[in-house]
Amino acid sequence: MAELVIRNLNKTYTKQKESIHAVKSLNLTAKDGEFIAFLGPSGCGKSTTLRMIAGLETITSGEIEIGGTVVNRLHPSKRNVGLAFENYALYPPLTVYENIAFNLRARNMPEPEIKREVDKIAELLQITPLLQMKPSALSGGQKQRVNIARAIVRKPAVLLLDEPLSHLDGKMRQSMRTELKRLHTEIRSTSIIVTHDQSEAMALADRIAIINEGVLQQYGTPLEVYNHPANEFVAGFIGEPPMNLFTVTAFTEKTGRKMFRIDGSPIEFAVPDAYRDRVIDGKPYRFGIRPGDIHIVAGSEPHTLRTRVTIFENLGEECRIHIRINDALLSLVTGENVFFQPGDPICLLFREDRIHLFDSQNGNRI
Ligand code: ADP
Repeated sequence: MAELVIRNLNKTYTKQKESIHAVKSLNLTAKDGEFIAFLGPSGCGKSTTLRMIAGLETITSGEIEIGGTVVNRLHPSKRNVGLAFENYALYPPLTVYENIAFNLRARNMPEPEIKREVDKIAELLQITPLLQMKPSALSGGQKQRVNIARAIVRKPAVLLLDEPLSHLDGKMRQSMRTELKRLHTEIRSTSIIVTHDQSEAMALADRIAIINEGVLQQYGTPLEVYNHPANEFVAGFIGEPPMNLFTVTAFTEKTGRKMFRIDGSPIEFAVPDAYRDRVIDGKPYRFGIRPGDIHIVAGSEPHTLRTRVTIFENLGEECRIHIRINDALLSLVTGENVFFQPGDPICLLFREDRIHLFDSQNGNRI
């Protein structure tokens, strides 16, 4: 068990004489026992960071500290980290049992103790029936379980998981996600999972580090990043279906009421009270509202948006309604039992306390 501290971490690759700045001045602390997710689109620098923590990649500049010791110069085997990487292959000639036992044997652990540890981990990951099989006989999902077992059997101070559920689909992925969460509550290693799947990060992590183009965008609990995204990137990345984001311009009506008009459309609605003093007439803003924060109303209320339905989907437990605005769709989700046909008039109300506003230049939250 250990705290992990990353200080001003940078990684630059040189590829065909071109320099790629893959990780840019990353600062982050994972508390002892915390479960952290590195979340971001492909190529944003998640795996590079993980590999630097593991010692599989050199550090261009900055510092990584595990349990109070700077590990920059420590060999991977001396860092007390457990790795479950997607391409971290199992040894093909060895059985699953031997693959898991490998690192314990390297430590000269007595045989009966090795058996006890392997059996315990196998039970935890529900792979006991696979122990005498060779890796070639396993499915992708089973291999990933064995990989995780091999990583945690050493009881590492820091457990590093790179897309550990990527080979699983549908229900299996869901149940393994729940298993991982349970596993973490049992082993309590400080854990980092790399994923590009926001729902996985939201479900598993105590805190999520959202990264884009090598830069940390926000580091917070799932609720923080969902409810108070620091910028437009985070707002658009977290949440499914994603947040609706539009460019709006502020103006003041003759009555003195401050309004937004969606650019390129006649759609107007009132500026929420909380933002009234902060928006400037004539200035564009990025306006965000989550699909679940738009209500269907009768139309007699003030500040409603009157429009027409473009697409209606009934998914059983919820209905999704999409409205074309310029080239984009405004989407809303409702758990109510409604029915619409394309072209039907509809009146919408944005939940004022759930409206997000971002600077149209730098994307930062206003
Ligand atoms: P992620 O895990 O978020 O998908 P990576 O950390 O793998 O992203 O990659 C970050 C950036 O660094 C990408 O632009 C990728 O092309 C580049 N990169 C990763 N590994 C290497 C390497 N060994 N040599 C050159 N460039 C690399």
